Amino acid sequence: APMTAQLNPPNAHGLFENFVQASTCKGTLQAFSILCRQLELDPLDHSNFYNSLKAAVSTWKVKALWTKLDKRAQQKVYSQNKACQGTRCLIIGGGPCGLRTAIELTLLGCKVVVIEKRDTFSRNNVLHLWPYTIHDLRGLGAKKFYGKFCAGSIDHISIRQLQLMLVKVSLILGVEIHVNVEFIKLLEPPEEQTDVGHGWRAEIRPSGHPVSDFEFDVVIGADGRRSTLDGFRRKEFRGKLAIAITANFVNRNTTAEAKVEEISGVAFIFNQKFFLELKEDTGIDLENIVYYKDNTHYFVMTAKKQSLLDKGVIINDYMETERLLSPDNVNQEALLSYAREAADFGTNYQLPSLDYAINHYGQPDVAMFDFTCMYASENAALIREKHGHQLLVALVGDSLLEPFWPMGTGCARGFLAAFDTAWMVKGWAKGKSPLEILAERESIYRLLPQTTPENISKNFEQYSIDPATRYPNLNASCVRPHQVSPVLNRVPVKEEANQFQKIKTGNEKTSLKVLSEVHPGRLLNWCQRQTHGYQGVDVTNLASSWRNGLALCALIHRQKPELIDYDSLNEEDVAGNNQLAFDVAEREFGIQPVTTGKEMAADSQPDKLLMVLYLSNETFAALSLPC
Ligand code: FAD
Repeated sequence: APMTAQLNPPNAHGLFENFVQASTCKGTLQAFSILCRQLELDPLDHSNFYNSLKAAVSTWKVKALWTKLDKRAQQKVYSQNKACQGTRCLIIGGGPCGLRTAIELTLLGCKVVVIEKRDTFSRNNVLHLWPYTIHDLRGLGAKKFYGKFCAGSIDHISIRQLQLMLVKVSLILGVEIHVNVEFIKLLEPPEEQTDVGHGWRAEIRPSGHPVSDFEFDVVIGADGRRSTLDGFRRKEFRGKLAIAITANFVNRNTTAEAKVEEISGVAFIFNQKFFLELKEDTGIDLENIVYYKDNTHYFVMTAKKQSLLDKGVIINDYMETERLLSPDNVNQEALLSYAREAADFGTNYQLPSLDYAINHYGQPDVAMFDFTCMYASENAALIREKHGHQLLVALVGDSLLEPFWPMGTGCARGFLAAFDTAWMVKGWAKGKSPLEILAERESIYRLLPQTTPENISKNFEQYSIDPATRYPNLNASCVRPHQVSPVLNRVPVKEEANQFQKIKTGNEKTSLKVLSEVHPGRLLNWCQRQTHGYQGVDVTNLASSWRNGLALCALIHRQKPELIDYDSLNEEDVAGNNQLAFDVAEREFGIQPVTTGKEMAADSQPDKLLMVLYLSNETFAALSLPC
């Protein structure tokens, strides 16, 4: 070790460690710029930056990190960092998914610029990590940047820490990152070449910023659930009313705190007894609760409206959720006590003190979110063309598919989409036809809402941006090139069958269109075959036969018997059976419910249109039929 240390400028290692250990966004960028200046490295020279940095900082202490990153960079798909040479990408948003995409694109050899409108990473909230994401992040040196990363059986990380480590990896690999830069809109190439250039650019705030001169061939929307990129239609899934509360308490890392068990949402979701007792003892009525011990004690729970009204958290009852949860209709003090009481009960009163952590605004870190409507983009990508300049436009992360936090799917599905997008960019750079690229991307996107830790490939060592390494049942030509149109491409018609929301609001035109896509006879026939032999089930139609919920439960049980204890179901418990089926289908297969168990029980028979739509969800079909 002393030998190599002498070859380095005296402080190279120290400068690099300062950068690695930086604990804020601004601190990281600052330490990085000092590092580059002192070691005379040019961070804009993206194709050589990583190797130059490696040569400049070669002490044994960082070798392990270089080995890891080299291993990733040497994957065949990247063609030695040359697969996408010359391709320029703009990424909007420095959240986990934007940054993860940036890393893949830079490894492919793209020039990558990330713009992030904030300059702080302040979200304490904690993300659940699937086993593959843990493996993936370890491979990027997560432990080097955050020593406590997924130690033992821990399978989560705060959003803040995740962003911090991904920013560091991105910078090391030559990604250009600008904070305090907000994307406003895309600027079309001018008709004639001018001094400022001739390709696609972005209008940004502040307007004079150098990034406004950056011309790019690919733009990625990674700006979170309210994506700003034009051209994408959004599907809205309206489920039952779902109000989620997040709360963060100070973790003093005492032994007493260390002993308290976490609550993983999946295990607890069916623990009816727990929720009944909670309600009896405290008046708090929850549908689920998750607790992770991280930098903070983090809780996320879904609360029932009535109990929020009873406990004075929500002041007046309104139909529209937006008004219901607007700040002037929420009693903040009551919300603080509500979440604290739930957390206390949930951990069996074992956490010694539940003091709220302080958030970015200097307030106790508790918040309430409405998940009644969830959004997904209808398409994952499109291609725009103006004056001979093509632009590949894609969405990743929450912009593409909004996650329901208590289910902990967000970051894992977000990373999958990041890889799939990088794969598409590679195809694009190789000169594949736009139609083929879009068709393949849409085919892969259809799998995304169905992915679970169980049904993706378990061979994490093999994972790459090639979708075939991750999805065992991939049919990459599920959507055909003729079903997409290259410029501002429109939805393939079949996709519309998923738009429950429009049905519920009674948009008749859409309903008719959707129905014309479904063959009720074939659907009935399939349901009969699937539920044949189940006690108490006799499917003769697509309405009343489904009322007591047993047929739905049977349908799920047929595919995955471990998910439902069919024999324990009670025919009389109409609301319970239906709710169980809706919850399991949503949690396990990502199928959004169209109604609630209670509503099913209240009506004499379910609405046929709703049932047809629910049952014709492609996911149900995909479980037993090929794509
Ligand atoms: P995000 O993490 O939302 O990142 C988007 C980034 O884009 C942000 O940094 C934003 O500042 C930036 N941005 C937005 N608009 C622009 C623009 N015009 N120009 C430039 N930059 C822009 N998930 C959970 O599982 N559990 C939770 O408890 C939880 N809590 C959350 C709390 C909040 C306040 C938010 C916003 C999200 C929360 N999430 C939670 C969701 C989770 O953070 C995301 O699923 C995950 O971070 C991956 O998202 P992403 O990278 O796609 O988007």
